[in-house]
Amino acid sequence: MAIEPKKHEMPTQAPEVRAHNFKEVALGYTEEIAVDEAARCLNCKNQPCVTGCPVNIHIPDFIGKIKEKDYEGAYQIINETSSLPAVCGRVCPQETQCESKCTLGIKNEPVGIGRLERFVADWHNENAKTAPEAPKSNGHKVAVVGSGPSGLTCAGDLAKKGYKVSVFEALHTAGGVLVYGIPEFRLPKSIVAKEVDTLKALGVDVETNVVIGKTLTIDELFEQGFEAVFVGSGAGLPNFMGIPGESLKGVYSANEFLTRSNLMKAYNDDPVTPIMKGGKVAVVGGGNVAMDAARTALRLGAEHVYIVYRRSLDELPARKEEVEHAMEEGIDFKLLNNPVEILGFNNPDDPRDPKNGFVTGMKCIKMELGEPDEKGRRRPIPVEGSEFVIDVDTVVISIGTSPNPLIKDTTKGLEVNKRGGIIVNEDGLTSRDAVYAGGDAVTGAATVISAMGAGKLAAASIDEYLSNK
Ligand SMILES: Cc1cc2nc3c(=O)[nH]c(=O)nc-3n(C[C@H](O)[C@H](O)[C@H](O)COP(=O)(O)OP(=O)(O)OC[C@H]3O[C@@H](n4cnc5c(N)ncnc54)[C@H](O)[C@@H]3O)c2cc1C
Repeated sequence: MAIEPKKHEMPTQAPEVRAHNFKEVALGYTEEIAVDEAARCLNCKNQPCVTGCPVNIHIPDFIGKIKEKDYEGAYQIINETSSLPAVCGRVCPQETQCESKCTLGIKNEPVGIGRLERFVADWHNENAKTAPEAPKSNGHKVAVVGSGPSGLTCAGDLAKKGYKVSVFEALHTAGGVLVYGIPEFRLPKSIVAKEVDTLKALGVDVETNVVIGKTLTIDELFEQGFEAVFVGSGAGLPNFMGIPGESLKGVYSANEFLTRSNLMKAYNDDPVTPIMKGGKVAVVGGGNVAMDAARTALRLGAEHVYIVYRRSLDELPARKEEVEHAMEEGIDFKLLNNPVEILGFNNPDDPRDPKNGFVTGMKCIKMELGEPDEKGRRRPIPVEGSEFVIDVDTVVISIGTSPNPLIKDTTKGLEVNKRGGIIVNEDGLTSRDAVYAGGDAVTGAATVISAMGAGKLAAASIDEYLSNK
């Protein structure tokens, strides 16, 4: 039978409908589509796709189970190496990982591995009846700082081995960026909550509203009897541009904007925390976070949303699928433009004028691309005299984040690099005995799957360390 050259389309909500709601955009494969898509897999002997997966999921094997319609069998294969398949099936950049290595992709479109992973995980979540049981305790206590994908993975792997794990999370809800950053329309929060519940069923204790470095220090965790600590505190400190006007009312970091909307439900009619809704919005940046902020602004009722990015479409770092979705929804991409000043209202005759201090526009300059930089991306160069103003009410800055220095500042002997990332060796061990780290706290802003890989590695190292202690 001839192999379909293209992967099966993902059913989605229509752009004109989804641009006004927070429901999930991609609806997931039906069983029939999943089985047809699985049939495209060549089941290559050398399994190149597995090498493209940072946690080495046995991809052809789980796809083989879908061909046999044994979906629980497929789930169990994924679950051997990945603890968050419903999350990864939705947000992993498969196009640059497993799918980029798919043999079928040489001449045709690769197998839709991510879409199949999502199908299997959703099937399991809807149909599996058995909850995991807490394993027998081995008597060792481990603390995990942060409940993002790195912390959850580390906690899960250790709990399965019988460790008594406590996760300490600064925010009031567990999940890290999966709950406060990535919007509901890409990753429903109920999926993350289910993953956290699975960990709790394994005996993991999740303590929210605990800021390590303020409520308790790492040294105090050791005093409380924890024998090892994993730091998965992410990279939640937003970078700013350092241009005039960034402290005006109506300027947000993408983290603040998304947290208010996702975690604090600012889109409700009577929100606990306010957010500026409607008007014209400019989002500065071109990554996944910028796409999420722009599409959130649209759903909050903005009349026009710009993405302002200093390079061209070819260099845009966001996932292709997210860029396409944003374009379909009507986001206006102002490429090869860079902000130089955010402009605000000022009425000197009436200092109490309520409009004082609010954003009115953003001055930008046109850019052109020069020689490639050290990362191989062509360097943007300002075009002299090309400044212009766009009329906006809200500016969301999404130009990257760094690890928060709080844990470094309160933990003696914990070394960090010049970008604030915690320095670890190949086992995930930091410069402090029994303190391990991984995820964005080490690498700076990266991906869910790489954070999970780091959590896994650290769990294995902690197990080895404590087993030999
Ligand atoms: C808006 C957005 C969209 C993204 N989209 C994608 C995507 O589509 N695909 C993808 O692969 N990646 C995406 N990423 C990146 C990905 O989410 C991160 O790389 C990943 O979440 C990092 O995991 P982590 O566990 O290292 O940290 P985080 O997810 O950041 O979790 C760290 C946790 O630690 C907590 N914490 C911090 N300090 C302390 C402290 N002192 N005490 C206690 N707790 C603390 C934080 O509150 C947080 O909950 C996105 C990121 C953002 C912001």
